[in-house]
Amino acid sequence: MIKVILITGGSRGIGAATARLAAACGYYVCVNYHKNQTAAHTVVEEIEASGGKAIAVAADVSLESDVKNLFKIIDEKMGPIAALVNNAGILERQMKVEDMDAARLNRILAANVVGSFLCAREAVKRMSIKHGGQGGAIVNVSSAASRLGSAGEYVDYAASKGAIDTFTIGLSREVAEEGIRVNAVRPAFIYTDMHADGGEPGRVDRIKESLPMKRGGHPTEVANAIMWLLSDEASYSTGTFIELAGGR
Ligand code: NAP
Repeated sequence: MIKVILITGGSRGIGAATARLAAACGYYVCVNYHKNQTAAHTVVEEIEASGGKAIAVAADVSLESDVKNLFKIIDEKMGPIAALVNNAGILERQMKVEDMDAARLNRILAANVVGSFLCAREAVKRMSIKHGGQGGAIVNVSSAASRLGSAGEYVDYAASKGAIDTFTIGLSREVAEEGIRVNAVRPAFIYTDMHADGGEPGRVDRIKESLPMKRGGHPTEVANAIMWLLSDEASYSTGTFIELAGGR
């Protein structure tokens, strides 16, 4: 039976690269997106043109009702979920903590942390051998920001990724006996649209010379690590992290 994978935020950047690679690895891919329907459908069309299978489903992962509906669609249209990539994430304009208001902090934590918890909850209920499932694998997309702190740029975003690191360790131990592995990747300085949301589209090129590898990263380089962690080659790995930050 073809394995079903959900990639949240699969319409652009790292999520889109992971969706394409997952399809090439033989998965039936659910490309979740928030607002950019055109981008999501383009990813689905590219996958289908290469002989793969994919559907696009809109859902704001920070909303419980949207997440429940997303998994209902997967159940009804695709079959039992085998893999989840908690990739959807946001950041906002670069600013110091002293200027951040509560509305911004709540948006960041809702999308990056609550969204990952809700999707993992729905996936665990379906994957767990304790609940009659077949097991599965989850990869959370954290960030090197959880180690580095993003001072002067977005400490709120970095802290949300710190929460994802702790979530990865805790959930991995909670479900290890239930046939589910939970790991994370910690990328940084990857060429995607996200840096424009922070107000600096050219951020990766500004920083790259200060990195040990002297270059930014590409979404496919993160996708490769995600797909390895999901694969049977990583069968004895859970609660672990792969750094993809050019040596920083
Ligand atoms: P991106 O190019 O800005 O893409 C973000 C994706 O997330 C889009 O598909 C977007 O959907 C989706 N999304 C945003 N909010 C959502 C929500 N509430 N519900 C569902 N989907 C939502 O970002 P990216 O750089 O690929 O980042 C992907 C992940 O990697 C994020 O978790 C990010 O924190 C992490 N990361 C990125 C970097 C980097 O350097 N780029 C570094 C470290 C970690 P729409 O297309 O519909 O807007």
